[in-house]
Amino acid sequence: MFARFRKLACRSDRIVRCSSGHLYTTMWIWGGSIKAVRLGSRRYQRCPVGHHWAMARLVDPDSLTPEERKAAGATHDVRIP
Ligand SMILES: [Zn+2]
Repeated sequence: MFARFRKLACRSDRIVRCSSGHLYTTMWIWGGSIKAVRLGSRRYQRCPVGHHWAMARLVDPDSLTPEERKAAGATHDVRIP
């Protein structure tokens, strides 16, 4: 039970919004990231929607419309350098 919680808490797919307003899904690793600068609930990384570097901020999925969640889920940043 605890191990399962840890796994969910430490590494999960999260919806983020970049500073230009693009929504996408990214692998969010709590406590450290191998491909982005970690800044709490924000981090600087490459946006797969606009193909630019931008500050990505965690978004609460409940605050999004179903259309926004669908759009964010359709774009997943899976590439790990
Ligand atoms: Zn963007």
